[in-house]
Parts: sequence; C-alpha cells; structure tokens
Amino acid sequence: MELFELMAGKQHEQLVLWTEPRFGYKGIISLHDTSLGPGLGGTRLWNYATEEEALVDALRLARGMTYKAAVTGLTLGGGKSVIWGDPKIRGVDREMLFRAHGRAVESLGGRYITAEDVGTSPADMAHIALETEHVVGLEGTSGDPSPVTAYGVYRGIKAAAMARYGDDSLDGLHVAVQGLGQVGYHLCENLRGEGARLSVTDIDSGRIERVVDEFDAEAVVPEDIFDVDADIFAPCALGAVLNDDTIPRLKVDIVAGAANNQLASTTKHGPALQEAGILYAPDYVINAGGLINVYGELQGWTREQSLQKAGEIYDTLLQVFQLAENERVSPEEAAARAAEERIQRARHLQRTYLT
Ligand code: NAD
Repeated sequence: MELFELMAGKQHEQLVLWTEPRFGYKGIISLHDTSLGPGLGGTRLWNYATEEEALVDALRLARGMTYKAAVTGLTLGGGKSVIWGDPKIRGVDREMLFRAHGRAVESLGGRYITAEDVGTSPADMAHIALETEHVVGLEGTSGDPSPVTAYGVYRGIKAAAMARYGDDSLDGLHVAVQGLGQVGYHLCENLRGEGARLSVTDIDSGRIERVVDEFDAEAVVPEDIFDVDADIFAPCALGAVLNDDTIPRLKVDIVAGAANNQLASTTKHGPALQEAGILYAPDYVINAGGLINVYGELQGWTREQSLQKAGEIYDTLLQVFQLAENERVSPEEAAARAAEERIQRARHLQRTYLT
C-alpha cells in the first residue's frame, strides 16, 4: 500500500497509528482537514479483516466528516478514529482499550475531538475522558442526539418539499419511512405532527406496532417499502439502500432520510435518481443534526439552541438544491462543491493572514 499516495489522493492531513500491545490496543486516528477547525468524528470499534481495511475506513470516514461539518457551516474539520479489535470486549480489558485510545487522542492536543460511533458507547467515552478532555457525548452532557437528528431530517424534508412542490407544508403528503429506531421514531412523530400520512417498516415488528398505534401509520413489510406509491421516501435504517435494484422501483418525488451512505455508489446512483426525476437530499447534509448536537456541547448550547441550528438544515438544503440547478449537477455533487468552497475560503484566509 502506498500510504502517502493514499493520503494525498483525497488530501488527508495526518494519520496517527498508535499501539499499546499490553492492552491489545491498535488504533488509527485520521485527520482529513482542519482548515475550519479541529477534526471531530467518532471512534469506531470494529474487527476489520485486514489492517488495510481499517486504514481505508478511517480515511474515508474522516473525509466524510470534513464535508458534513463544512456544508453545515460549523467551525469544525473532519476526523475519525478506529480501534481494530473485538466490539464484544468487556470489563477491565475494555476500559484499558479505551484509555489507551484516550492517550492517542490526547497526543494530538485538541486537533482531533472524538465521540461515540459504531461499536462504542457513552461509557467508553467516559474511559477516554480519563486520559483526555478532547471527547464529547459523555453521559449527562449533550445526551441522545437522535431527536436533534430527527428534527433536522424533518426540516430537510420540508426544504425538499419546497424545492419540489413550491410549498413546504407536509400536511396530507404521504411519506414512506424505512427504519423506526431512534431517529425513525422521532421523525414519524414530527411528520405526523404536521399531518403527513405515513407508511412505515422495520425488521422489528414491535417498533412497527408502536408507530402504527401512536401515529396512525400503515405497516409495510420491509421488502415492499421501495414499492410504496408515496410522495417521499425516508430511509432511516441502513446504508446503500439506493442502488441498481431499488431506484427503478421507487414511486416517489423525493428521497430524504437519516441513514448514512444511502447511495450504493455516489457517482452512479446520485445521477440515477436525478434521471429518474427524484429529488435527493444528500444524506450527510440532512442528517447533520447528530454532529450539530455534539458541536452544541462544545459551544455550551442548550438543547433548544442545538434544535434551532438543526432547523437551519432547511436553508442549507435549499442552497444545495439551487446550486445543483444552477450548475446542472446532482444535489450530492452540489453539496460537495459547497463544502469544498467553504474549505477553500478558510484556507485562503489562513494564507492571507499568515503572509
Ligand atoms: P437505530 O439502530 O436506532 O435504528 C435503525 C432501525 O432500522 C432499527 O429499528 C432496525 O431494526 C431497522 N432496520 C434495520 N434493517 C432494516 C431493514 N432492512 N428494513 C427496515 N428496517 C431495518 O439507528 P438510528 O440511530 O435510528 O439511526 C438510523 C440511521 O441514521 C443510521 O443509518 C444512522 O447511521 C443514521 N444516523 C443516525 C444519527 C443519530 O443521531 N442517531 C445521526 C446521523 C445519522
């Protein structure tokens, strides 16, 4: 593997490899870009098949954070870390693993701030916090991000309705929601509150029953959610749900939901949605509420202030849709351009300031 080439390809700034063999710790911290501020991104604990896989994941995820923070207008850069290990590790071994990770985070002196991610919990963050202050999402701080994420997605759906129909009211619109977990449930609550009609699915029947009962939704079996004749499809479960098989089945005007990495291929399926006449709200723009929630923690915001900032996803998305129209590109491409432009402006200011 040509490491420097790999980093230079997507303009990664820094890669930290840290090991403490006596605790079984092998960690990677990837800082993609800190032009706008310290790189903030979660710690993933995963049993990768190979070292290369872990490294590539850390690089890819850090870059994603740069774009999410930049397009959302936060003074944050992009970073992410992975611990290569068994997510099921328990007890004192787990504590030692995360304390070792805390020391690795501390070595960057604040250039990287970590948080919870796949395979990690607030309790793990508490162990990291014993070694460094550069960690957010601890118990008793900004709390569960899901209601903020859901509110941002709801506001993003309204922006998409405005762009598509010239009216942002969701009253009477039919929304198909895939995934009724932390975010999906709260999203349904917001949508129903505005009078939207809901068709919902999950692989957990208990979650479906709850939403059917509480929000008068119609239940759909998981595989059929792509065929629902609705106005809007909101993926709130897995990644890669927009692909060669599902896009031709969609009978909606808008795809806008919380799930990460919805497009199986950004270069192929972003344009495919556009060709199908479907307006797509780029996932990392519409689901930025989780990042806003921990950013609020750094800023000392109240939950109301974080919700207000998440509400601004409405304006961000309208700008992205406008840029896409002006430049005749997909919204995914437009969002990336908006993020890159903001980073370039910051770099230019830094250069001007330094010379
Ligand atoms: P969650 O695990 O609480 O909920 C996911 C739900 O999807 C579960 O109820 C699960 O049973 C269901 N599901 C899984 N496979 C399914 C399938 N094939 N069909 C239908 N349902 C299926 O997760 P969450 O926190 O609600 O997050 C949802 C998505 O949003 C994830 O992709 C996550 O990465 C993304 N996201 C979440 C946040 C946040 O604040 N929680 C922030 C940004 C992005």
